[in-house]
Amino acid sequence: MVEYDVIIIGAGSVGVPTALATAESGLKTLVIDSLPSVAQGDNKHAIGGIRATHSLKSKIWLCQRSIEIFSSWEDKFGDDIWWSQGGYTFLAFNKEHENQLKDTVELQKSYGLNINYVDAEKIRNIIPGINNDGLLGGTYSPEDGSSSPLLAIHAFYRKSKEFGAEYNFNEEVIDITTKNKKITGVKTNKAEYKTQTVINAAGGHAKNIGNMLNIDLPVIPESHEAGITEPVKKFFSTMVIDINPTIDEKFGNSKNYYFYQNKEGKILFCLTPNPNIHGIDRRETSAFLPQISKRMVQLLPRLRNIKIRRTWRGLYPMTPDGNPIVGKVDGVEGYINAVGMCGQGFMLGPGLGELLSRLLTEKETSRDKEILETLSWIRDFGVEEELK
Ligand SMILES: Cc1cc2nc3c(=O)[nH]c(=O)nc-3n(C[C@H](O)[C@H](O)[C@H](O)COP(=O)(O)OP(=O)(O)OC[C@H]3O[C@@H](n4cnc5c(N)ncnc54)[C@H](O)[C@@H]3O)c2cc1C
Repeated sequence: MVEYDVIIIGAGSVGVPTALATAESGLKTLVIDSLPSVAQGDNKHAIGGIRATHSLKSKIWLCQRSIEIFSSWEDKFGDDIWWSQGGYTFLAFNKEHENQLKDTVELQKSYGLNINYVDAEKIRNIIPGINNDGLLGGTYSPEDGSSSPLLAIHAFYRKSKEFGAEYNFNEEVIDITTKNKKITGVKTNKAEYKTQTVINAAGGHAKNIGNMLNIDLPVIPESHEAGITEPVKKFFSTMVIDINPTIDEKFGNSKNYYFYQNKEGKILFCLTPNPNIHGIDRRETSAFLPQISKRMVQLLPRLRNIKIRRTWRGLYPMTPDGNPIVGKVDGVEGYINAVGMCGQGFMLGPGLGELLSRLLTEKETSRDKEILETLSWIRDFGVEEELK
């Protein structure tokens, strides 16, 4: 039986950049996914937003590194992954949100992020045509951006294979074997593999993998819908996030929604329903489109005649505090969590992959240690991320 240095469960937003980093550092890497090809889990449901402007230092650090990787990829390796540095804009329509954003900006600036709270006039320049009725201002972080999840993960996949990573698709992990509390291998519906290290990067199904080792992970799949329009001439570059909750008796309440215009001129959009919808149902609903189009047209009236191409529904692997769970687990040597990415797995993936590779090769930096401590599965999950 072939022995691998590391087996990664899941070829998605996290598993693929992790395989890229582990294979590059010389580890014999196998990635197993139950789906027929790469990035067919929730990576392909992401709309492609990438920001470092979080409220948790660990996520800021991870995503700063991710942005370096996304933004330099084309120059370094030649693949166009549609990286666009259009910035992120969070809008404030009431004093409470204005104060919340201003407070977060202070914190973000203290971590060296390029972000400012700007007035409604400046927002009108960033988002031409915005209906600024009641708009007080918002944050603008010009170094954040977007990329195509499919193009990026496929580019990472190809590169990881050049470094020697192997992928087995259409194969489901059904058990992880141990001896004396140490990982010894992985069992799938097709074969058995030897390894001393397993990374759980199973996204919305991460809890099932944890259960194989009696590790009860607080990761709950939460369904979110998104959509894409026809292409129109590019007229704004930023990701727009409206955090104003809305009551809609006919189609359902929503907490927030966000959208941006991609490299082809298509607008990608996504909404957070209120209350959240838990479960793994990926069937689109008839309520999403009327709910979000009403909000988007009210905010940006020039969108009213644009045609929607399609909508879809996918999963955020949610944790109680909105932050990922990363790192080793006491009592099961060789098992590593890379789970609970919430709505940010695509942007976290590349930075996280490199950290995990350093963890396996015992090259962790002091910053890595701090991140791993913050994102440990044993932590106080009561303190929620401000901008999850
Ligand atoms: C509508 C929507 C919009 C989003 N927008 C963004 C965004 O703009 N930016 C962003 O950063 N994130 C966004 N996300 C979140 C992002 O998609 C997720 O956080 C991310 O995909 C999670 O990455 P992952 O690698 O953990 O999971 P996935 O990408 O889902 O990969 C997990 C893989 O594990 C495999 N797997 C599971 N169990 C097994 C098993 N037993 N055996 C073998 N394989 C298994 C699955 O088949 C899957 O391919 C969005 C999500 C949705 C739904």
